[in-house]
Amino acid sequence: MLRAKAWRAVRVATESRLSGGPSPEELPRLAQEAAQLAETALASLAPRAIEDPRAIGWQVPNCRPGCHFCCYEQVNVTPPEVFSLADHIRANWSEGRIRSLRKKLTAAASLSRGLDHEAYFAARIRCPLLDSEDRCSVYAVRPLMCRAYNSLDVAACERAAKNPSKPAHQRGVRTNGTIHGIMDGAFGGLKEALGKSGRQEFLPNLVVALHQALDNPELQRRWLAGKQVFQ
Ligand code: SF4
Repeated sequence: MLRAKAWRAVRVATESRLSGGPSPEELPRLAQEAAQLAETALASLAPRAIEDPRAIGWQVPNCRPGCHFCCYEQVNVTPPEVFSLADHIRANWSEGRIRSLRKKLTAAASLSRGLDHEAYFAARIRCPLLDSEDRCSVYAVRPLMCRAYNSLDVAACERAAKNPSKPAHQRGVRTNGTIHGIMDGAFGGLKEALGKSGRQEFLPNLVVALHQALDNPELQRRWLAGKQVFQ
């Protein structure tokens, strides 16, 4: 139900913005609005999560800053999310820091090309956006699927990291389904609206996509014109 609501809200908001003929510079806002709608929906549940957690199936995640077991997963993204990340990095990071990120992205992209989700996790490719303290360096603008991921048991995440070849369904990591559902619904709504507009809407691998977008600011204009700009 909550997933469906988030899906619809984001689809409608994205369709409306696309119908207004956005400029390439405005594209990051599509991702930011989707995240904002999902975060607002989640925040509105807070009182019920305290007073009547069972009514919304609420279980408290074990996730903490610096815990990064899940940042070795392959992250699915949409183009506006990638543009939002690239914009944020260009606007806020020093040239030296961007150079260092580029190197990490090049290495991670080359290791990850052609891998499916299981093989990617097994390959232990650390997200290049993790900082030296194992925190997400783009937390405020992180992708929706990163927002969706959560765990009720950090020990299960640790066991999964130690046995990365185990298929996902055997890793035993349980999640708060309400958080996952809202973020996944927002992702679905964004993707659906982009697809309906005839533009490339789904990118399986954040690392490969960000590597491309960071190197080529022209991508936003070409994507908006309907070109298949991402590999
Ligand atoms: S973007 Fe941030 S939250 Fe997502 S995998 Fe990378 S470091 Fe982790």
